[in-house]
Amino acid sequence: MFEDFYCEEALSWRVPIDKVIETDNVLAFHHTRPFWPVHIVVVPKRHIASLLALEPGDDQLLIEIFDVVKQIAARVVAERGGARILTNLGDYQDSKHLHFHINFGDPLR
Ligand SMILES: [Zn+2]
Repeated sequence: MFEDFYCEEALSWRVPIDKVIETDNVLAFHHTRPFWPVHIVVVPKRHIASLLALEPGDDQLLIEIFDVVKQIAARVVAERGGARILTNLGDYQDSKHLHFHINFGDPLR
């Protein structure tokens, strides 16, 4: 398990990424080890440790992140009928880089 999978692997393109949306500051891609039948993650390209590490100057970035989250969630809802948006914190957060999960369906394991 990586301390920061996103900076170390995904954002440095060391692993193949199935990209969904990319903007100047945000990347969204299908999770490399999905936990739900539909499982997309949205991350800022700049390192931010978690939702709790956001600072007042990050407001514009947060809007950009949530615009991407919204676009993807709208697609999943249109295709599947529902979606969940989730971010983990503290002991629940495996990779210490802010990321939002957009998922649909029952857990795969
Ligand atoms: Zn990072």
